[in-house]
Amino acid sequence: MQLEKERANMVEYQLRRRGIRDARVLAAMGEVPREVFVPESLRREAYADGALPLSHGQTISQPLMVAMSVEALQLEGDETVLEVGAGSGYQAAVLSKLAKKVYAVEIIPDLVTNARRALDSIGIDNVEVICADGRKGWPAGAPYDGIVVAAAAEDVPEALVEQLKEGGRLVIPVGGRWGQSLQASRKVKGKLEAEELCRCVFVPLVHGS
Ligand code: SAH
Repeated sequence: MQLEKERANMVEYQLRRRGIRDARVLAAMGEVPREVFVPESLRREAYADGALPLSHGQTISQPLMVAMSVEALQLEGDETVLEVGAGSGYQAAVLSKLAKKVYAVEIIPDLVTNARRALDSIGIDNVEVICADGRKGWPAGAPYDGIVVAAAAEDVPEALVEQLKEGGRLVIPVGGRWGQSLQASRKVKGKLEAEELCRCVFVPLVHGS
């Protein structure tokens, strides 16, 4: 009960009052129990206004970053979406409420196992969690209406542009280790037209073997 109240407060104070407008995004984040995706010992902090640690030195992104990223995809419900950097599976759970099908790629096998378990435990069945190097996208699910990357890249991986539909949207933090620009782009005539949403700090997108 307490956590439900905290979730409603998160939506109001961390998201709506800070400029998140898409009613579907606000509803999705009001619905997904974030506590299921954070480590057991941090459950009470599930609705804190910041990133939280996962295992393997990774993090579950700040709620506002999740909201800004998914809002920029401008989803209506019928889309196929790729997430790169599934981590805990939280953002994939939010996306599951906003799109028809979600492919969530994660490079660390343990996190894949945990994310699958968390998603299953709350009955989400339109997310496929895949263990792979997301810099190559996931060709089996392409083309995508939207792609969201939850780890920072120096440059936008070419495979992601290729796997995005014409008119589709890509959200990715671009920059170095200590600070990036969260960019939202639309694919127009095969090329990305980018705008900056905000400055941000994400963990780096690592190179697979
Ligand atoms: N969206 C996540 C937050 C992820 S943090 C959530 O909601 O919890 C970024 C994640 O990207 C980490 O789990 C990290 O392991 C993963 N990652 C880093 N490089 C990757 C790559 N090349 N391919 C796939 N996942 C990657």
